[in-house]
Amino acid sequence: MRRENVDQGDFVVLSEAKDLHLLARSGVCELPLYTRDVPAGALDLGDNTNLWGAPPTAVRVLCATSSNDIARYPSPYSAILKAAMLRYVRMDGAPGVDVVTGCGSDDVLDSTMRAFGGTGDSIAYSAPTFSMIPIFARLNGLESIAIPLTQSVDVDAERLVDCNAKITYVCTPNNPTGTVASRAAVEYVVTHARGIVLLDEAYAEFAPETFAGLVCEHEKLIVTRTFSKAFGLAGLRVGFGVGSSAIVDLVSRARGPYKVNAMAERAVLAALEPDGVAWVRDVTRQAIASRQRLTTELATLGLVALPSAANFVFVPTARARELANGLRERGVLVGVHDAALRIGVGPWEMMQTLIGALTEVLECA
Ligand SMILES: *Cc1c(COP(=O)(O)O)cnc(C)c1O
Repeated sequence: MRRENVDQGDFVVLSEAKDLHLLARSGVCELPLYTRDVPAGALDLGDNTNLWGAPPTAVRVLCATSSNDIARYPSPYSAILKAAMLRYVRMDGAPGVDVVTGCGSDDVLDSTMRAFGGTGDSIAYSAPTFSMIPIFARLNGLESIAIPLTQSVDVDAERLVDCNAKITYVCTPNNPTGTVASRAAVEYVVTHARGIVLLDEAYAEFAPETFAGLVCEHEKLIVTRTFSKAFGLAGLRVGFGVGSSAIVDLVSRARGPYKVNAMAERAVLAALEPDGVAWVRDVTRQAIASRQRLTTELATLGLVALPSAANFVFVPTARARELANGLRERGVLVGVHDAALRIGVGPWEMMQTLIGALTEVLECA
């Protein structure tokens, strides 16, 4: 094999493209690129974002941006934003609790794995779950251990803990099932896990309870939240993790500075003002009402959804792929998982479009 790499300062110029594959870290060549094909004009119910839009307070701030607002770097670790986030999760006076922000909560999940995991370590998680977890795990050299949900669709806390993994990941409400972990299961994992516990609450706003308060007693727990779902700001890419000052410090170091851009910082701050949060609460109430009504309508079509505490419903059906294709032909996009559909919940007119298309697909099949 020809190797004529020329050292040019920090960069190595390659003689042949295939050399790149040999130079890449192990596993990187096999990592999938994320793809989503959304035809123009389609009703996209496939990515769990906020179908009501974004908080008007955030949009106003973005429209009023001046040159000075973007000519300079933002704050390295979003100090002002962190304070507002702590207030939002009602942990601003909690001693020893801090926040790490990120370019989406994806960034916080990835940084946590990078801070604590390395080659030879493993991450155990309840499955099925968020599709990015095994990808970030592989990227960080971690071995993935998937533990199925129990018969009663709860997290199998004992089996998860018995994995003795460096990191244990639990998502509640869970993507893609929409189901919640019981408080008993979460407390068991947090109390007994040997290593770090990563609790993903991306859909907390739609759920009856949050477990974020557990970070006050458990130093090895980090709870992640996002502005991509209830807050309607997926395009800005902002998430955060709440945890002990010690865990937050380490994750922040692994993350690096300047991950939340200046526009996102300003818009999220505006979304966390009382008017922004009131908008989120109102739209969240509408989403929950829409979810209940959609669940009832689907049942009349013979499609029984799992009980959801998120802004989507998960509908097990052997015909998932066929139904999703039929919907796509009619301009409606939904998520497909092995033998289930995952349908985002939005304003009722959108749900009527979905139900109309689904009724047609079921009639033709
Ligand atoms: C959407 C989602 C996220 C959020 O990702 P961002 O990077 O914050 O947009 C995290 N976890 C789960 C389970 C999700 O579904």
